[in-house]
Amino acid sequence: MAAPVRKIVCKHSPHFRQFYRTIWKDSIRGGFVGMVGKTPLIRLESLSKETGCDITVKVESANGGGSVKDRAAAFLIKDALEKGQLKPGGTVVEGTAGNTGIGLAHICNAMGFKCVIFMPNTQSQEKVDLMRVLGATVYPVPAVAYTDPDNYNHQAKRYAESLENAIWTNQFDNTANLRAHYETTGPEIWDQTEGKVDAVVFSTGTGGTLAGVGKFMKEKNPNVKVVLADPQGSVLFNHVKHGKLERSEGSSITEGIGQGRVTDNFSEAPVDDAVCVLDTDAVHMTFRLLHEEGFFVGASSGLNVAGAVQVAKMMGPGHLITTCLCDTGQKYYARLFNKEWLASKGLLDCLPAKYQSTLH
Ligand code: PMP
Repeated sequence: MAAPVRKIVCKHSPHFRQFYRTIWKDSIRGGFVGMVGKTPLIRLESLSKETGCDITVKVESANGGGSVKDRAAAFLIKDALEKGQLKPGGTVVEGTAGNTGIGLAHICNAMGFKCVIFMPNTQSQEKVDLMRVLGATVYPVPAVAYTDPDNYNHQAKRYAESLENAIWTNQFDNTANLRAHYETTGPEIWDQTEGKVDAVVFSTGTGGTLAGVGKFMKEKNPNVKVVLADPQGSVLFNHVKHGKLERSEGSSITEGIGQGRVTDNFSEAPVDDAVCVLDTDAVHMTFRLLHEEGFFVGASSGLNVAGAVQVAKMMGPGHLITTCLCDTGQKYYARLFNKEWLASKGLLDCLPAKYQSTLH
């Protein structure tokens, strides 16, 4: 029997009309937003064998812009169109660690908008270069705390306010972000696992993925465990475990994840538990994914899978656990896959000699 077509009328844009349609029906997809969502769910063979659980990953690098953030980008723009905040020829301004900016830049090109990105200058040069090639104007700014008026998000907001026909998409506190995952990622995981999923595990930047997928799962089956995987130096692990906004020890080389505050998106996440994943484990898992499973991914993906393995060990054999591969390793050549850089961060020795010998 053919999959049902969801009948939603979106009068604002043929792009999004097609986007909704393609959530359910695998047919010709419309435009770039047709390249967002419906990613494969893959069982990781060696890790599943080792844990006795099904460790499964949504391969979010299969989205058109190459990351999980394409979903948020599509819904942030859809939301602005539906609210009449963005008119033809307008400008989309966002503060981002990079991946949301890449997704926005693609969609802006496809829909005739301009794209301006403010990002902390600590993120990989590959992401800056890619956004510029895609036609976005990129302002790398000093990485200062959210409480500082010069934080990249506040600069993005002020810049959007200074322009005519411009919006600040505000991915951290605009819950159109979590709706992307509630309406697409969550249903996809449910369908692809035929409702057999026992736990979902995600690291968070904005919290959109964890909150949207988590909410959808809890509505389908309240027994599905929703678990945060948090890097070192983030406040969210202690927030979930002890109700305190205290940073966990150390800092992390992962990009796009870890938080110093509870965003509006995260605040809606029905979180049952949290695990803190050390950088040594995240980096080791990133290399395992490459050399044992065949996936070339960034460190947040390694962290997600290391978190899923921790949860598998806590739950015991026989469970189906889902996380995601957030983006690809190509954005991190000069860092994560560079011997000197890894050594400078004290992360080379966590890799066995067989992985180290692949680095230059
Ligand atoms: N991994 C990477 C590489 C990211 O860029 C992000 C978002 N900044 C995430 C994971 C986390 O996704 P979310 O914002 O939905 O929490």
